[in-house]
Amino acid sequence: MIETDALVVGAGPVGLFQVFELGLLGIRAHVVDSLPVAGGQCIELYPDKPIYDIPATPVCTGRELVARLLQQIAPFAPVFHLGQQVDTLQREADGRLRVESSAGTRWLAKTVVIAGGVGSFQPRRLKIDGLAAFENTQLRYGAPDDLQTLNGQRVVVIGDDEAALGCAIALAPHARVTLMHRRDEFKAAPETIATLRQMRSEAKLQFIAAQASGIERTGDRLTALQVLAADGTTHALPLDTLLVLTGLSPKLGPIADWGLDLERKQLVVDTARFQTREPGIFAVGDVNTYPGKKKLILCGFHEAALAAYAAAAVVFPDVPIHLEYTTTSPRLHKALGIAPAG
Ligand code: FAD
Repeated sequence: MIETDALVVGAGPVGLFQVFELGLLGIRAHVVDSLPVAGGQCIELYPDKPIYDIPATPVCTGRELVARLLQQIAPFAPVFHLGQQVDTLQREADGRLRVESSAGTRWLAKTVVIAGGVGSFQPRRLKIDGLAAFENTQLRYGAPDDLQTLNGQRVVVIGDDEAALGCAIALAPHARVTLMHRRDEFKAAPETIATLRQMRSEAKLQFIAAQASGIERTGDRLTALQVLAADGTTHALPLDTLLVLTGLSPKLGPIADWGLDLERKQLVVDTARFQTREPGIFAVGDVNTYPGKKKLILCGFHEAALAAYAAAAVVFPDVPIHLEYTTTSPRLHKALGIAPAG
């Protein structure tokens, strides 16, 4: 059980800035995200697209914004727990909050800030009768960590984006790879598509324009996918492993089950503290709602600042919290690791 003053659920841009604002007030945070990397929508949905409305930053990409936020919060040494979803949040008898993740990590937190955005990103699952039984054995959502584990196998990769094409290309020297997508068109970088076409022409991997319609099994083994090809024919595509990389979609998921007030799948908060109806549980960024709410990063940053002050009042109930400027406060300079002037 990890005891902490603050647990931030969600490592999107707002969750990251929340760490900074908490850090300025002397609170070190643990941060959990279901994704394997920090950055939320900025990394998952538009890493290379420009953002023009971050104050004093005329332009930066989603990836650059996240890199700068990570740099900015580094002095506060947050503890990241990535690749795990927060499943449960309950109040203990002593008022602290007991939180548990899908990986079995447990925290006892004085405050929890939910920065869950539009929800936890989950792989889009292939809905075919009987297929779910093979998940984590012959069926995986995502590329394998170690390509060698598929050596010599017949592998079907489903998807059309950079991740799917990259996986098929990387696997081709190790396995007999068939990439499948409903059309012979891809949403990947031109150079990745060119590599794919080259490898197809050299028969280093196969491509099939088709959609999965069913499975074939022998005993407890998945032996083939039934596919409906773009030309209207159906046939079986034999396989040993099926890798589905058809992207991620956000699901509010367990946040909806934590007994907090929701309005159209968003957490209702006040605008002085950004607190939910539960004391010590705050919600910032895209996950919250209040009159006039705008789902903008800039608004989330403001919310994080006020939520941090309110969290500090919970963590340090007997200490008056004063506003200090980062420009002039020696305490803040020390916290930020900045050498005293002169
Ligand atoms: P998110 O970025 O959604 O991050 C939330 C994180 O919480 C996710 O990583 C998720 O995995 C995690 N999470 C959720 N539930 C759990 C759980 N139970 N356990 C663990 N982790 C969980 N905004 C602007 O201001 N300017 C722009 O120019 C702009 N351009 C955009 C362009 C596009 C294409 C899109 C889609 C959005 C754009 N936005 C823009 C909106 C902006 O990206 C969002 O407002 C911002 O990402 C919200 O940040 P967040 O930290 O609240 O949530």
